[in-house]
Formats: sequence, C-alpha cells, structure tokens
Amino acid sequence: MYKTTNIAIYGKGGIGKSTTTSNISAALAVSGARVIQIGCDPKSDSTNTLRSNRHLPTVLDSMREGKKVRLEDISAVGFSGVLCIESGGPVPGVGCAGRGINAAVTLLKELRLFEEFKPDFVLYDVLGDVVCGGFAVPIRDGITDRAYVVTSSDFMALYAANNLFRAINKYAPTGGAKLGGVIGNRLIPGYPLAIIEDFVQKTGVKLLGHVPRSLSVSRAELYGKTVIEDEPDGEQAAVYRELAARLAANQDLVIPNPIGTNDLRIWARDWGDRLYSLESGVVEERAAI
Ligand code: ADP
Ligand code: MG
Repeated sequence: MYKTTNIAIYGKGGIGKSTTTSNISAALAVSGARVIQIGCDPKSDSTNTLRSNRHLPTVLDSMREGKKVRLEDISAVGFSGVLCIESGGPVPGVGCAGRGINAAVTLLKELRLFEEFKPDFVLYDVLGDVVCGGFAVPIRDGITDRAYVVTSSDFMALYAANNLFRAINKYAPTGGAKLGGVIGNRLIPGYPLAIIEDFVQKTGVKLLGHVPRSLSVSRAELYGKTVIEDEPDGEQAAVYRELAARLAANQDLVIPNPIGTNDLRIWARDWGDRLYSLESGVVEERAAI
C-alpha cells in the first residue's frame, strides 16, 4: 500500500521556488520515489527544467478550450520519470488564480491521476505572496498537509514567508496544512543565514536547509535542466539531495507564530542597525551577528 505525501512549496515571486522544487523532485525521483510536480503559478514555468523547456499546455488553458481534457494532453514525463503538470492561471486581469488551482486539482482527481500514478510525493509549487486568499487554496482545502517556504534574507521575501505563516495559523486549526519548515535560497556567505536563523527562531519554525547562490543553477537553467540532471556530481546537486532527503524524512510539522506587522518592522530595523555597524566597521562580523 503506498502513501502519498502532499507538499506545498511557497515563496515570493522570483525567490527560487520552481528551481528548488524541481531539484527536490529530481533528487527524490533519482532515489526511486514516484513524484508528481504541479506548478500552481500563473507563470506556468514550474517544471521547465524537468523537461528541457518544452512546451506543455496548462490545465486551465486546456479546460478553456471546451474539449474533453485527457491526462496525456496536460502532463509530461520529465527527468527520471517526474510527472509534470502546470495548472496555469486565469486570463490576465480576469478571475482568481486560487479558483484555477482548485479547478485544476478537481480535474486531476476526476481523471484519477493520483490513484493511477500512485505517487510517493506530490509537490505543489505555489506563488506565495498570499495576499489574496486564492493562493491559500493548496494549504486550506486539504490538498496538502504540509507547506515549506523558500526565502532569501531579503525583507520582502521574509515578509511573504510571514504572510504564509499567518495563513497557516488561520487555517491549520480547522484541518489546513502545517509548516514543515523554511528553505533558505540564493544565500551568499555572511549575514544572510544569520538573518534567516533569527527569523525562524522568532517564529518557532524549523530551517530545513539552505541553498547557496550558485552559477551551476543558472547554467543548468539555460540548458533546461535541474542541477541534479546537469551536474549530478557537483556540490550544488549534493545540497539539493540532502534537502530532498530531509524533506522526505521530516514529520515535524508546526503551526508558526507569525510576527505582527509592527514587530516585523522593528525586527527589520534592528537588523538594519546591525548591518550598518558591520559596514561602518564599528564591530567585527561575528560580534554583530
Ligand atoms: P520562482 O519560482 O520563485 O518565481 P525561480 O525558481 O524561477 O523563482 O527562480 C528565479 C531565478 O533565480 C531563476 O533564474 C533561477 O535560475 C534563479 N535561482 C534560483 N535559485 C538559485 C540559486 N540557488 N543560485 C542561483 N540562481 C538561482
Ligand atoms: Mg516559479
């Protein structure tokens, strides 16, 4: 009997959700797991690097055509057997992305995708500024039971993570997903990791791992590949494999304590002061962080 782990990966636009999710999917698949990755971002580029940037019609576009949608029209088997799907989005300026995600998942259930594919993991790659409730659909409506958030140390990325924590805080008590942890991304050496560590400590969540900024990622992307496929023996691939293993093993799900809007501002200012002291040479690097 198989058991599926349904995971939502959130994060601010451009923060590296799709890159991180695709490398995790690829690493899980290489280790023998059956994996489905569903892009839930209207950009519909979530799975590009798993399938050499080839065109894949989105679920919503196909539904809009009015013909009967078949699974083979809206899915592609990508690297190492990862099944790739893009929910797509509403016509720009019209409709709600969240309803689109719901419609896409409902259709995939009707097509018996999950019973037939029997995935070990389904990863939903979701645009995470969570301003409109629609983007909370994957964590609110029982589609997933755990969410992760990808963030850098930039304030707006942490702000988006904190917004996700608010949404989880609101919906988890009534059956919504909990938080599996935070994934730091595109980190350069020095203070960024310290900022993220402080943020996770303050909000009572776990740092699952952190991914350095790497030229390997940019190069692999240009080839339409994940690093796991492009450079499996490199350091960056090892980072993603470790992250995937931790994600697969993690059963420590929590309801975060989001920081209030004003406290978040004060916290950010305090970090601003610490970095200023660092830059102006008043203190040594380790002393300030
Ligand atoms: P999102 O899905 O959150 O919008 P993407 O995964 O598309 O973000 O990433 C945005 C850009 O950042 C891409 O060009 C990607 O290659 C790059 N990127 C993501 N993570 C890293 C990293 N660790 N090192 C270098 N570049 C990265
Ligand atoms: Mg993306």
